[in-house]
Amino acid sequence: MYDVWKNALAEIEQQISSANYSTWFQDTSLISTKDGNVRVNVKNTFYIKQLQNRYYDIIKKALENNNVQVNSLTFEVQATTKHKIRPREVIKSTSISSHLNDVRSSLHIKNSSSVSQTTPETGLNPKYTLDTFVVGSNNDLAFSAAKSIIDSPGTRYNPFFLYGGPGLGKTHLIQAIGNELVKRNPNYRVFYTPISHFYSDFIESIQNGKGKEFNRKFQKLDCLIIDDFQLIVNKEKSQEEFFNIFNDLYQLNKQIIVTSDRLPNQIKTVDERLASRLTWAGAFDLQLPKFEDKCAILRAKAEQIGADIEPEAIEYIAENVNTNIRDLEGEFSTILLMSEVRGLTPLELIQNGSISVNKSSKMRPISPKQIVDKVAKYYNLSTTELKSKSRVSHIMLARQVAMFLLSKELNLSTNKVANEVNVKDHTTVMHGIKKIDKALKLNFTLRDQIEEIKERLYG
Ligand code: ADP
Ligand code: MG
Repeated sequence: MYDVWKNALAEIEQQISSANYSTWFQDTSLISTKDGNVRVNVKNTFYIKQLQNRYYDIIKKALENNNVQVNSLTFEVQATTKHKIRPREVIKSTSISSHLNDVRSSLHIKNSSSVSQTTPETGLNPKYTLDTFVVGSNNDLAFSAAKSIIDSPGTRYNPFFLYGGPGLGKTHLIQAIGNELVKRNPNYRVFYTPISHFYSDFIESIQNGKGKEFNRKFQKLDCLIIDDFQLIVNKEKSQEEFFNIFNDLYQLNKQIIVTSDRLPNQIKTVDERLASRLTWAGAFDLQLPKFEDKCAILRAKAEQIGADIEPEAIEYIAENVNTNIRDLEGEFSTILLMSEVRGLTPLELIQNGSISVNKSSKMRPISPKQIVDKVAKYYNLSTTELKSKSRVSHIMLARQVAMFLLSKELNLSTNKVANEVNVKDHTTVMHGIKKIDKALKLNFTLRDQIEEIKERLYG
């Protein structure tokens, strides 16, 4: 059990930022995996929601990759180890884990609690609702189509094809449609599935000689919702099965909803006929939210969880997260958590420099030389000193930070990084990067330093 979780965590660590990893996963453990009901122990109820909202799919996948069947995944707080309570004054810049222990203590969590996820019959997650979906200039067309589908499914927007980059609300919107349809008519048979699950279920049913049953289950639906269609694989038989189900449902005027990160004709593995059929009724896209949209989303989130956050802090986050809504939510939660840990309001944290958000896909390009120069300057060294063979600790630290940033910010190979900082071989580089990666999980000061260097680089 211990090993399974350890392996799953190692996989998760690869996929998310080290700051998020240490914040959310450091003190988790596996309680049980019996009958596919996977239970994970977390520190306090705050984590339950965060892990569910942000990392449910990643955790599930990581477990499945380690041969754990996951029918349901719940997070629970079990009163286990006792943590020492330390006075607030002392927790300025010690390790993150002790900060979080303090949160735990201050929340006085004793009881076990858990919240379950998807509804098995529909595959829908009840947390995605229409009233938590904030409508703005980035999604209003898709949203009005969604409303029209809810009022009269299987008519005008059939199939409903929704596309857009990651984290822009595709899953939220289509599940909200499904949830609303069921709410209005509990007999309405809705089924939501990511295309990858559709495939694995199909293959499994064939292997068990239950191909017909699989097909029948889908034929009975009133509304089929397929997520992440871009992951369709080029296996003739599975694609044919999907095509057949699609055609049958379509002919019966059943509602079909499909999402993808791009248009079907841009997905190489898709049969041309299927691609064209998917967009018969048009294609709707979700775009990046503008500043006002982002503020509205953050205000709504704050209201939902009853969090106190200053308008200026909301504006700061909105201005500095330019990637997608998932990241926007992520930064928002991190600030709220930090605010709890450090006993300062979100705005105070931003003002005193404890938090600096900078998520942008439109950063201007920077060169390896700029990184090395900026890091050297930050640590009051000349570039030559940084690139020297000196083993003085602060020079070594600067060198390792430079390696780390060259690798993370520019994606340079370890050999190239070695060249840039004038070290002999790439194993030294690997060691250096690993060391910083690891230190970041425990060391707030270093984290702040690196954030500051990044700010200077991109700012
Ligand atoms: P996608 O499926 O496009 O990758 P998701 O639907 O998973 O994106 O959305 C990412 C996160 O952002 C989810 O937590 C979702 O609830 C939230 N989100 C996306 N769009 C909105 C919106 N318009 N209003 C409120 N929350 C949103
Ligand atoms: Mg999605």
